[in-house]
Amino acid sequence: MTLFTDRLQHSFFDQFKQQGDLHLSPVLAARLDNPVMVSTNPLLAKQLGIDPAELETPEMLELMSGNFMTANVKPIALVYSGHQFGVWAGQLGDGRAMTLGELPVADNSAPWDIQLKGAGPTPYSRFSDGRAVLRSSIREYLCSEAMHGLGIATTRALCLLDSQTQVYREEIESGATVCRVAQSHIRFGSFEHFHYRSQPDSVKALADYVIQRNFPEWADADNKYYLMFENCVIKTAKMIAQWQSVGFNHGVMNTDNMSIIGDTIDYGPFGFLDAYDPDHICNHSDTNGRYSFKNQPSVGLWNLNALATSLTSLVDNEDLIRALKQYEPEFLDQFRHIMASKMGLEEYRVEDEQLINQLLELLHINNVDYTILFRTLGTFSDQNSSIRDQFLDRDGFDAWAKTYSARLAQQRLTDAQRQQNMDAVNPKYVLRNYMAQAAIDAAQQGDYGEVNLLLEVLQSPFEEHPQTEKYAGLPPDWADQLSVSCSS
Ligand code: AMP
Ligand code: MG
Repeated sequence: MTLFTDRLQHSFFDQFKQQGDLHLSPVLAARLDNPVMVSTNPLLAKQLGIDPAELETPEMLELMSGNFMTANVKPIALVYSGHQFGVWAGQLGDGRAMTLGELPVADNSAPWDIQLKGAGPTPYSRFSDGRAVLRSSIREYLCSEAMHGLGIATTRALCLLDSQTQVYREEIESGATVCRVAQSHIRFGSFEHFHYRSQPDSVKALADYVIQRNFPEWADADNKYYLMFENCVIKTAKMIAQWQSVGFNHGVMNTDNMSIIGDTIDYGPFGFLDAYDPDHICNHSDTNGRYSFKNQPSVGLWNLNALATSLTSLVDNEDLIRALKQYEPEFLDQFRHIMASKMGLEEYRVEDEQLINQLLELLHINNVDYTILFRTLGTFSDQNSSIRDQFLDRDGFDAWAKTYSARLAQQRLTDAQRQQNMDAVNPKYVLRNYMAQAAIDAAQQGDYGEVNLLLEVLQSPFEEHPQTEKYAGLPPDWADQLSVSCSS
């Protein structure tokens, strides 16, 4: 049987040869012991032109556990640097990820990097083991597909393996791999790396690589580097507006975890809000709340400033500033339009800002569950009390509901049409921490059913899934006690 790996290309190498491989290192994997396939992703396989059945073969299990003997792969690890928690961290790099090659796709869009995360140390592992544990791999696997299901730009995940390799964290855990797939793994920190080493030729080579691969239509434009940066500003603003609209808290928005094409990347201690709390900090290690939920939009701009600084050898300062100035209006425009549609409004009007903000404030004061509230808001009518019952402050809600009702009356939609529109933008399912934990607990006992069930549900989060109705309700009391840190 021919593996999809026979379609893999390695033009990545050639591009950087003239630079003396400053950008990457060839690597070897350290195979997992007794690997088992936990989950494969047929939806993504089809999108990539891979026969889903191929993912279930013994050859694929070998490959994804880090045995590259028979397949046509030449894995590499990329170098990058970055600002972590606002401080320059110097050289980082793919410490536990290796790119196996690039998979071209039929529709002529950019090829996809096929990456294996957790397959052993690389020259950039520093003092760590290059491994990923099953717990954090399940979180990354499910969340990247959940974000895609929500329509948010993200890296994807093709399959997930468990093994009997012992990995030492706070306790001994089993080693796993995730096959991460993305149209770019270049980070803001990739550019910063060469800028701060005073290697402008390498900054340029990297930008040329991104443009050739992801934006070939700009290859001959005089201002191609500006266009690449401006695109990143716009895409990042949109991505973060979408994060805010679904209650997603990334948790580690370091510049090495920000993608040049505006994908959500590096799922660590992320969390979706249960009760709406703008001050929520999902990362237990983030004691000052630098990456709290409400700080994400401004951190996005901070990170883009860091990227702009590293592009000063390619783009004039005034142009970089011109692009940066688009961030805030773009973010606000996206956020307001998304929130208006979540409220069932066919268009956003200036006066709606107050309606949105008042609702968010009521959610905050009353500890109302963010996802459930918006999903049930589709059933709003003057007679329906199930929404009102979610608020302790009934008078506060009634006052808001009166304005909301009047606003809805200005539209020509029937209640049924409005509900249909709202159900298409207000997910019934998000990956709450306790759901990921339930899948992790079962998988650690060798039962992978929950991982696969959640994958299916989260890939279509706006649909009804009667078999998982329990996950559409309020989280259980123990969910509050879960704590997630960077340990992975
Ligand atoms: P992260 O917090 O996952 O974004 O990782 C930050 C940096 O640490 C990246 O350069 C990772 O490649 C590296 N890293 C994290 N965990 C490991 C590990 N277990 N082994 C080697 N490198 C790691
Ligand atoms: Mg990272």
